[in-house]
Amino acid sequence: MIHSDKQKRQIDLLVAAPRGFCAGVDRAIKIVELAIKKYGAPVYVRHEIVHNRYVVDELKKLGAIFVEELDEVPDGVPVVFSAHGVPKAVPHKAEERGLDYLDATCPLVSKVHRQAERQTDAGRHIIFVGHANHPEVIGTFGQVEDGQMTLVETLDDVAALNPEDPEALAFLTQTTLSVDDTHAIVDALQTRFPNIIGPKGEDICYATSNRQDAVKKISETCELVLVIGAPNSSNSLRLVEVAERIGSKAKLIQRAEDIDPAWLEGISKIGLTAGASAPEILVKEVKNLLAEHFDINEETVQTTAENMIFKLPRGLETA
Ligand code: SF4
Repeated sequence: MIHSDKQKRQIDLLVAAPRGFCAGVDRAIKIVELAIKKYGAPVYVRHEIVHNRYVVDELKKLGAIFVEELDEVPDGVPVVFSAHGVPKAVPHKAEERGLDYLDATCPLVSKVHRQAERQTDAGRHIIFVGHANHPEVIGTFGQVEDGQMTLVETLDDVAALNPEDPEALAFLTQTTLSVDDTHAIVDALQTRFPNIIGPKGEDICYATSNRQDAVKKISETCELVLVIGAPNSSNSLRLVEVAERIGSKAKLIQRAEDIDPAWLEGISKIGLTAGASAPEILVKEVKNLLAEHFDINEETVQTTAENMIFKLPRGLETA
């Protein structure tokens, strides 16, 4: 706990905007809620619907059951696939078993899946920029045959590439990467393989880049930036890195209770943001805890406005 002084110390709190839920996360959570309404509990969800413990616990209370593999879903109950996307084999297996399934894959991840198919159909080998073992990467690799895609995580990986046909390459990227690191990797790919085909820019989504821009702005003046997010949330981890690179200290927290009072000693300007899977209620929780112990001077620093909404799958809009 943070110890309060009799006379509260004044702290400036810069709150980044945009922060928190993106359109893909919002849609994925709605899909689970509406599936429970439509089918009744329990509804199974393969993998955490989004990487946030609070969200998962709230959905469990409504009747969602989270499993890692389709084999754990009993026959005859509906199953939702998480926002990160799944390999093609997963819906195929669900169909074989006659399971009702709902795909909560973010449309921006599905777009990358379609690009992967298109590039391999055109005979190109894909260089995929992403983080090994992240569910989104596993899902995207699962759109093509084994051996049609190679993962690169670093500039060293790019230098070590030895493709069979350097003239028949395409690149794609994970949606939640560091914008700056990815530019450097894409530049290196284009320098080594001038004819490599890729999306305009890269596939990093609007929410990831907007949250990174906003955290950059607050990190310019804050001594400490608190990032609300889960340790397995790629976009949240990137927010911590971005803040640190600008020169601020940065800490990833899941809940207000994770704040170590020692972090705040001697600090007069704190930044606050949240990853794309962290709900606003957790931002409020942090603000409330800080206000209990400090005299807070709060300012929202908005770098852009967001108004993205993704359509729900057919059959659920009316649930
Ligand atoms: Fe979609 Fe981006 Fe949100 Fe991921 S972070 S769910 S890709 S909008």
